[in-house]
Amino acid sequence: MLDIQKIRADFPILSQKVNGKPLVYFDNGATSQKPQIVIDADAKYYQEINANIHRGVHTLSQLATDAYELSRGKVQQHINAKFAHEVLFTSGTTHGINLVTNGFASILKPGDEILVSALEHHSNIVPWQMLCEKTGATLKVIPMNEEGELIMEAYDTLLSENTKVVTVNHISNALGTINPIKYMIDKAHAVGAAVLIDGAQAVPHLKPDVQDLDCDFYAFSGHKMCGPTGTGILYGKEAWLNKLPPYQGGGEMIKEVTFEKTTYADLPHKFEAGTPNIAGGIVLGTAIDYMNEIGFEAIHAHEEELLQYATKRLLEIEGLKIYGTGKNKASVISFNIDGIHPYDIGSIIDKLGIAVRTGHHCAQPIMNFFCIPGTIRASFSFYNTKEEIDLMVEAVKKAQTMLS
Ligand SMILES: *Cc1c(COP(=O)(O)O)cnc(C)c1O
Repeated sequence: MLDIQKIRADFPILSQKVNGKPLVYFDNGATSQKPQIVIDADAKYYQEINANIHRGVHTLSQLATDAYELSRGKVQQHINAKFAHEVLFTSGTTHGINLVTNGFASILKPGDEILVSALEHHSNIVPWQMLCEKTGATLKVIPMNEEGELIMEAYDTLLSENTKVVTVNHISNALGTINPIKYMIDKAHAVGAAVLIDGAQAVPHLKPDVQDLDCDFYAFSGHKMCGPTGTGILYGKEAWLNKLPPYQGGGEMIKEVTFEKTTYADLPHKFEAGTPNIAGGIVLGTAIDYMNEIGFEAIHAHEEELLQYATKRLLEIEGLKIYGTGKNKASVISFNIDGIHPYDIGSIIDKLGIAVRTGHHCAQPIMNFFCIPGTIRASFSFYNTKEEIDLMVEAVKKAQTMLS
């Protein structure tokens, strides 16, 4: 079991007051808070080893390079990638997905099909639409049911030899649904399609095993798992990364440049043009160490308890409806209250110190499906408590009274 008070003490921001009230931070789906060890690691990098990587023979440059590559190795271990060079540093999930869609522009042709799930974040929809515009490929949508679960019978029917890519999130940011991605990956491979998993909402809650999943690409952000903003990872199978053309041209990604012809560097450098977020990449490794020290089994058990408790407590409120009621859910609850706009509830409870997200959560198609403008989303992390959930429930009740 987790020692929550000890863990909370690691996060300086959690003891802060907002609007004169103790902060209750339930917007972890948008970004997580950072422990002191991560904040310190960032400062330490700039105080002690700041230099550019893979370039100088000088000592600091080598120290920076070693620390950056050590962090890549930590990520490799964490997600169980076969090779370190299958782990690309990016600026986040969005960057990772665009790197892949850009690469597929030279592979897809008219008649090819891309299957995207109805549960996606805009950053796993729009880049594929742009790719379809460029190549003449067609985007098809894997539908969901009223519980917010993808319909596997429909998925099976959509798959054909025309399917070249399947893209789906591991966990939905808007509803919390955990998708049956292993099944989906197996089915996609059976027709020869590549699979990209958007893992942005999964990595804060679980440890993905990319070899066991057998996905072709797995993208995630550092900032949702205790790491710095502007960091992320794209895992890609070696064969795919060798096949895809580079995303950006520039320094660091080349073997040899002449005005007649340039040859590209080996993996992973082929996809890492320019000076990256060196400090961020290193500190992401610190964040991953921190989370592993707490342990993902304990994190899961605690978050599951929070999810069950919050679901039960929220449903005590008259007129409250939860969106996303699938069997497999992460600690995310999207809800609305009859006759009240989510934004109004969000603004009032903010005055009471409760931070939740309101709106469409970058997933407008999901809101359209339920015919609502948006929801209130409370997303819990391992550092949250049942007492905080009680505070939120009281605040929502108060807002409801004020607004009706
Ligand atoms: C947050 C999120 C993204 C985008 O991540 P960025 O860090 O903004 O690039 C993509 N997909 C899902 C499911 C997300 O939750």
